[in-house]
Amino acid sequence: MKESIKNPKLLFEERKAIILFIWLFYIMYYSFEFFYYQIRPKINSEKTLFETDEVGLGIWLYILIFCILPVSIYFIKKGNPYIVKYIYILGYIGIDMIDTLMTYMGTEDKYSAGNIVEVLFVLFSPIFVNKKYFWTVSIGMIGKEIIIGLLLQDLNVVVPMVIYIILSVIAYILVIRFNSYIKTLTTVYEELRHKEKLAVIGQMAAAIGHEIRNPLSSLRGFTQLQQERYPNTNDYFPIMIQEIDRINSIVNDLMYIGKPKVIHFEKASIEEIIAYTLSITQQQAERQGVKVETTMAGPLPPLDCDEKQLKQVFINLIKNAIEAMPEGGKIEIRVKVLEKQKMVVSIQDEGDGIPKENILNLGEPFYTTKESGTGLGLMVTNQIIKEHFGEFNISSELEKGTRVDVILPINHR
Ligand code: ADP
Ligand code: MG
Repeated sequence: MKESIKNPKLLFEERKAIILFIWLFYIMYYSFEFFYYQIRPKINSEKTLFETDEVGLGIWLYILIFCILPVSIYFIKKGNPYIVKYIYILGYIGIDMIDTLMTYMGTEDKYSAGNIVEVLFVLFSPIFVNKKYFWTVSIGMIGKEIIIGLLLQDLNVVVPMVIYIILSVIAYILVIRFNSYIKTLTTVYEELRHKEKLAVIGQMAAAIGHEIRNPLSSLRGFTQLQQERYPNTNDYFPIMIQEIDRINSIVNDLMYIGKPKVIHFEKASIEEIIAYTLSITQQQAERQGVKVETTMAGPLPPLDCDEKQLKQVFINLIKNAIEAMPEGGKIEIRVKVLEKQKMVVSIQDEGDGIPKENILNLGEPFYTTKESGTGLGLMVTNQIIKEHFGEFNISSELEKGTRVDVILPINHR
């Protein structure tokens, strides 16, 4: 059973639907039987069902149909109401088929069984919003008529068959509409939740970030001053400044959440952007024994973009690629033009890859698998690319590596 189905609210909905169904089923079934086989013959002064010789299961038919109820109650009580609708449809088809065959097999009588409740089965199948159940009911009902028709060699089954086919089409449309409506509701809800989450985190991050930035910049200034004043005292100043810069870049990333910056589009050379990015990440790459190979497909046109922001994007991506290869390896960066309108930059590493179940988490703020990660890099990257009207695809194979494709329109507007 799927995890989501165990949700108490869904369980409650299913119980409501099945209880409604059971009530309708018994009311319709017994009243139809009563009027059709007991009252109607009396009015027409014919024999009632039990007085004729075509008895079938006789009174046992009603007892068996009633016996489905305690079984169903047992399953509902046990917390598995999902199975009950199948018990009803299969139980009903089974019992009805035995009764019909016993009644008509070997007689010359024309087939005229069936109960109005079968219409309820087909027409009500959408209330369970379950395609599998819908198909069980439709195929079951139509199949039942086909089998009876074949066994009895009776063409009278055609009428109910046609009715069930028409009703099935209607029910199918309803099921499809319900399903698509529910799916849309879910996505809208998810999007809303995501946006709200970002907005709350964003406000917090912006407030905190703002407070941190000012003291940080004076700290950096004074550290630099100290370094200049005592050039020969110790070698910790560069490290201090480097670490302050790291805090600063984290704060900048934080402030990006939920509050995108304004983008200034200008023509820029992608070659220069990549070269700059590589110069920034070079040290880290060398430390880890990572080689970078860049392939540019021919002369590339200038790209409409915010150069500073795009540099941030590629720094984030290349850093991730390097960090995915602690034992060293190779990063391939390929740039090409697609359909004369789009620039594709692929960054491929030979790292550990990303497990499938984690792919959806990428880009969520604070999602990280690294001990000293912030989980902000991909979120910022994603945001910047979106603001450039671009696309961002990640494909990854475990133990083989990860490939990130950034696709950007060459011309803005
Ligand atoms: P951080 O790098 O601070 O962890 P990111 O947003 O940059 O945050 O990345 C989020 C997570 O995505 C990483 O922790 C890592 O698990 C995964 N990831 C990103 N890029 C790669 C890559 N090239 N190879 C393997 N995993 C990656
Ligand atoms: Mg990162």
